[in-house]
Amino acid sequence: MRMDEDKNIRIYDENNFYVDLAVNIFSVLADATRIRIILILKEEGEISVGEIAERLSKSQTAISQHLAKMRLSKLVRTRREGTTIYYSLMNEHAYNLVAQAIFQGEHINDKKPTHHINDN
Ligand SMILES: [Zn+2]
Repeated sequence: MRMDEDKNIRIYDENNFYVDLAVNIFSVLADATRIRIILILKEEGEISVGEIAERLSKSQTAISQHLAKMRLSKLVRTRREGTTIYYSLMNEHAYNLVAQAIFQGEHINDKKPTHHINDN
């Protein structure tokens, strides 16, 4: 790993210890429902399984199974209040991955993707 002095960002090389874990993160995110869940969690901050299920028109059981996998990979965390369990993003990384994937997707369709609309 080295640092880019100007931007103060880390640049990783191909021998990075976490490559296999990165594969796991991508595999967990390779699902439309899970991507939508991350977008909802980003928007809402914290939300119950029932509310997510309602917004996505899916069963609570199905959403719970997705959330369990996302929780195992530490993408989301839970907070219990009475009998209700609330979910939120563990940190900003999963949302940033999804946002970047959506930006990349825009390049397939658009000559000038909306995320570059203000570029010179
Ligand atoms: Zn772009």
